[in-house]
Amino acid sequence: MVLLRPQKSENIGAAARAMANMGLGRLVLVEPRVSKPELMEAAATRQGAGRLREAKISASLEEALAPYAVVVGTTARIGAQRGRAYPPRLLLPSLLAGDPPPPAALVFGTEREGLSTGELRLCSKTLTIPTAEPESSSLNLSQAVLIVGYELLLAAGGEPAPPPPIKPATFADRKRALDDLQKALEEIGFLPRANPERYFQNVKKIFDRGSLARGECDLIMGICRQLRYRLRRSPPDGGQP
Ligand code: SAH
Repeated sequence: MVLLRPQKSENIGAAARAMANMGLGRLVLVEPRVSKPELMEAAATRQGAGRLREAKISASLEEALAPYAVVVGTTARIGAQRGRAYPPRLLLPSLLAGDPPPPAALVFGTEREGLSTGELRLCSKTLTIPTAEPESSSLNLSQAVLIVGYELLLAAGGEPAPPPPIKPATFADRKRALDDLQKALEEIGFLPRANPERYFQNVKKIFDRGSLARGECDLIMGICRQLRYRLRRSPPDGGQP
């Protein structure tokens, strides 16, 4: 991640933190202006401290880019002069192709002006993070670094595996649990003696709305078992108040 003339110490620190969050390699600072090192370190937190310590300082953009095989410029501002801009999901996976992938630099502009057209021309590709409205297309520098890093992490397959799917209840499991529930609701007098099936349809509707897991059927039957157990100890009619 190459930050060109970053002006705000907090942004440099927050960018270092974002890089650590997303597992991005080296931070390169071109002519940085660090007026408040304590703010930079605080924004980096302990997580980003290593990225800051190992950051390379360059005197010019050309010097900073010299070692890289692929150079991508990032910009909020697009225009005919500024070439074709790719969204992160289309462009970033291509940076990871090859074993190992060729060294790539992503260039970020200054907070106020961003990258000039001339600076963008030094880059072989342009990346723009889509936003809801063109008039609010400009992201905070470190947030732009975070989003690019996040998309690279996903493209590299760094997304954690989703939780294992729930075991869906079969028709038989479900029928057994709901029949049991209906019977228990009759026993405690929740369903009217006349036509309990019809009333129970309203309860069943709740379960029809989602898919029941097998374990949840066991849970319903467990609740019914406990209801019966308590009922036996103090029956609703004839028992102690
Ligand atoms: N006012 C500047 C924005 C500077 S924000 C401009 O209009 O260009 C600082 C840097 O964050 C930008 O130079 C760019 O590298 C990055 N950035 C901000 N918003 C972005 C976006 N929507 N897509 C890609 N990069 C963005």
